Amino acid sequence: MKKHNYSAGPCILPQEVFEKSSQAILDFNNSGLSILEISHRSKDFVAVMDEARSLALELLGLEGKGYQALFLAGGASLEFLMVPYNLMKVNGKAAYLDSGTWASAAIKEAKFFGETVVVASSKDQNYNNVPKGYSIPADADYFHCTSNNTIFGTQMKEIPTTNIPVVCDMSSDIFSRQLDFTKFDIIYAGAQKNMGPAGTTLVVVKEEILGKNGREIPSILDYAKHIKAESMYNTPAVFPVYASLLTLQWLKNLGGIAAVEKLNNAKANLLYTEIDRNPLFKGAAAVEDRSVMNATFLLNNPEHATVFDAMWKEAGISGLPGHRSVGGYRASMYNAMPIESVQVLVDVMQALEKAV
Ligand SMILES: *Cc1c(COP(=O)(O)O)cnc(C)c1O
Repeated sequence: MKKHNYSAGPCILPQEVFEKSSQAILDFNNSGLSILEISHRSKDFVAVMDEARSLALELLGLEGKGYQALFLAGGASLEFLMVPYNLMKVNGKAAYLDSGTWASAAIKEAKFFGETVVVASSKDQNYNNVPKGYSIPADADYFHCTSNNTIFGTQMKEIPTTNIPVVCDMSSDIFSRQLDFTKFDIIYAGAQKNMGPAGTTLVVVKEEILGKNGREIPSILDYAKHIKAESMYNTPAVFPVYASLLTLQWLKNLGGIAAVEKLNNAKANLLYTEIDRNPLFKGAAAVEDRSVMNATFLLNNPEHATVFDAMWKEAGISGLPGHRSVGGYRASMYNAMPIESVQVLVDVMQALEKAV
């Protein structure tokens, strides 16, 4: 039986993506070849890469606005250093919002390239909220933020306005909600949270911000080289890019980001309403910053954990335990999760209330 998969990443993808991508492993486009064995330079795969790149921009509303989409390797973690390599001037400085573990990992890498100014941090509160009311230095080379803090279950509801380039790690909420994406100069996201299997990273770059920092950049780390090579500077992750394309096509057929955002809000509402109503549970994150993608919550009485854990496992739920730095539970409700799965979890929470 198919599980209700609440894993934070790698995570649930649309069932049709599993089906179509497994078919392509056996025979890709009736070519008599598997997607796993074709050349990345073949006409069929070049078409996949081109469509994935243009569909990513189309869904974000960034087509024809000076942006390029790339599918790179190395995960979101490699972008932690590619961003400063490409944008920070020699002896320059960059501004960072420290809103979680991933944000602080990005700061650590940027320190190799120059000064980092942390505009605000919620570390002292174990990152249970997104800092607000900070100011961004106008002389920094860029401002970096994390739109959704996967581990802590918080999400930026407002993106600050500034005159310096804005870089955003959207690994865990890309394509999940409408934003004015033109506010960003670089958006990056590891595929494995909302777009595809692990192994590729979507990077969306506003071309005009490149080539200005006066550094020599090794080719493989140079966004401009990847753009020139149309995301084929070296062998791309052929299968993850193909599966990502299938997910993007699924999203477009669903009605794009506007349509999925409504579904995501309905799922999050359903679960948070139960967390707030049920006397056995409490939310882990500040209410105003609650993530629509990753809901973190705790049992008021940890002694109920044994019974609760047995009950949700019995109901076919997988991947619910929280990250070790928060404890409790984390329900990751990415785009592909049906609301029926959220109802199963809510039913288990209500059954626990009756049982104890
Ligand atoms: C998972 C995650 C990362 C790390 O992604 P990798 O692709 O494993 O390097 C970075 N940032 C955020 C917000 C994440 O959720």
